[in-house]
Amino acid sequence: MNRRLLRQAAVSPAVTVAVVVAVALVCWLVAGWLAERMVRQELDTALGVQRQMTRSVVDNMAEVIASDLSMSRAVPATMAETAVVQQALAEAGHYAASRPSAELARREALQSAPALVAVNGFLHDAQGFSGFDAIWLVNNNGICIASSNAMEKISYVGIDMRSRNYLSDTLLGAFSETYGVGTSSGEPGIFVAAPVYSDGLLVGAVLAKVSIARLRHWVTHAGTFVSDSNGVIVMAHDSKLEGLAMPGSHVEEMNAVDRVNTYLRERFSELPLHSAAHAATREAPWMPASEAQAFVDLPGLRSPALYEHRGGLNSGLTAHLVDPLNAWPELLANQRRDRLLIFLTLTGSTALAAVISISWVRERRLHRASRDLAEQLQAANSLLAAEARHDALTGALSRRYFLNLLRREIDAAYASGRPLCMAIADLDHFKQINDRFGHPAGDRALQHFVETCRAELRSDDAVGRLGGEEFGILLPATSLATGQEVVERLRREVKASVCAGLPSEAYLSVSIGITELAASQDQPERLMSRADLALYMAKAGGRDRCEAMASDGAAPPRATAATW
Ligand code: GH3
Ligand code: MG
Ligand code: MG
Repeated sequence: MNRRLLRQAAVSPAVTVAVVVAVALVCWLVAGWLAERMVRQELDTALGVQRQMTRSVVDNMAEVIASDLSMSRAVPATMAETAVVQQALAEAGHYAASRPSAELARREALQSAPALVAVNGFLHDAQGFSGFDAIWLVNNNGICIASSNAMEKISYVGIDMRSRNYLSDTLLGAFSETYGVGTSSGEPGIFVAAPVYSDGLLVGAVLAKVSIARLRHWVTHAGTFVSDSNGVIVMAHDSKLEGLAMPGSHVEEMNAVDRVNTYLRERFSELPLHSAAHAATREAPWMPASEAQAFVDLPGLRSPALYEHRGGLNSGLTAHLVDPLNAWPELLANQRRDRLLIFLTLTGSTALAAVISISWVRERRLHRASRDLAEQLQAANSLLAAEARHDALTGALSRRYFLNLLRREIDAAYASGRPLCMAIADLDHFKQINDRFGHPAGDRALQHFVETCRAELRSDDAVGRLGGEEFGILLPATSLATGQEVVERLRREVKASVCAGLPSEAYLSVSIGITELAASQDQPERLMSRADLALYMAKAGGRDRCEAMASDGAAPPRATAATW
């Protein structure tokens, strides 16, 4: 029973493997979904913080550029208002370009002109105070007439500067600021120019140059760079980016001469700033497309970056920042780690739940099996008890039970003061029945005798098989005289009745010895012995008869027996 139940609970290995694989797959998918939700929240937070930082860096950069250039602009503008500058330009207005060979002579003339020597000193001092690389004056013919570097070997004095595009607007009366590469020095810088008027007439311009090298604090933050109005990167934290053109920049449309005049070069490579949306979603498939669009990539960056810029600053400059997302590697690792942890937790919990459920089901089945077993055991015990109580062939009480009953009936008789009779009946010549008609016929005769007893005796009377073809009969609340009548009636009925299953020539009779309980202190053994003795007397007397023995061992009067 147990095995059958346990076998019911067992599942084939293939089904078990399939279920385990399916559960693991579901756990893996759920873990992926949960880990994505978690990492998306982390990404939102990281992006929020970094966007704020990126904006603040670019805003700060734009402020520094604006404030630096405003100060730079103020110096030439103030100098243009001074009498010394206005007078020097007014007086040197006649210097004009002529043959290239005349440039040297013009320079010498200008450098030696006493009035201009003082102006050169003034410009030199102003340059020293202001932090410019050079300050110089150009008359309205485009000739440099004085310069802060007049004393140096390579000085601007005497040079025809009309080709400089930063000058052209100023000689028409406009302030200008522009990035350019110095034609003489080859050094890039910001050129600031202010027109100079004397007596209402435009007499020239004050020019000042601050080299890019002095402005490098604009790009101290990693990833920052500055482009000019044509989209050329003029300064970058990573110096490799300097000189590259922004994608789709204006410099591509400039003519070659202007490019050379401004930058001393003709060709520009484009900054390889691309969208990193595709690469980012390939690395992190959980990233929403809308977020991925925000990312850009530059060669050499290990993470997708945020890009921020501020244009329209002084001198047409634009501040840029390409800021790699610092948290990117951690986010990728977190997503993988979280997925694994959630997967392990889910599978562990599922396995635990499965073990608990299976144990519970098994325990229930075992409980049911043991309950069934207990019921079966109880039924078997009841059967055994019944079998122990009754003789299997005849249904009469077993010998042991009959003797126990005899003891109880003796006690009950003494307790109630009522009489008790006990008889022993033995079938006559029973061996012959067996021998002549076979053992089954003998069995049938034994059963017939017990059936006859049941029919003739009261329900309170008891019949027990003492062994073989010998039976004990208990007649409670019966005196010996009445008991003799009862057993005599039984004897006659056995003789007269027809036993089904026995041939008609079979002759069945019984001898019975009966006795009664003594008035006091009688014992079962003695009672049995007296009944046995009475039976012996019946057998000895010729069989098919009843004999009685009183409790004192004497035979009762024959007169009573004669009435049988
Ligand atoms: P008596 O008149 O002196 O009692 O003679 P008897 O033949 O009845 O007595 P005996 O003791 O010689 O034989 C009893 C026989 O009863 C012997 C035995 O084979 C038979 N017997 C005992 N138990 C059973 C039984 O359960 N079934 C059958 N068929 N015969 C039994
Ligand atoms: Mg016998
Ligand atoms: Mg016999």
